[in-house]
Amino acid sequence: MAKNTNPNTHEANVFKAKCPDCDAELEIPADTEIGEIVSCSGCGLELEVKAVKDGCVDLQELTIEGEDWGE
Ligand SMILES: [Zn+2]
Repeated sequence: MAKNTNPNTHEANVFKAKCPDCDAELEIPADTEIGEIVSCSGCGLELEVKAVKDGCVDLQELTIEGEDWGE
């Protein structure tokens, strides 16, 4: 048996996520909660945390609401 059973011993508190816009790989603190807003380090886009599961984070681009009143 290998003596090291956990390959990520000193990075256990970071999740990986991918920016939906520019595909940059982002590191999200493991204590991030659903609904929090993070900024992409690649393109600066603001992203909302939609789900956290199995060490992966789903991000969705923030949409601006209330800008479409009447035509
Ligand atoms: Zn990005």
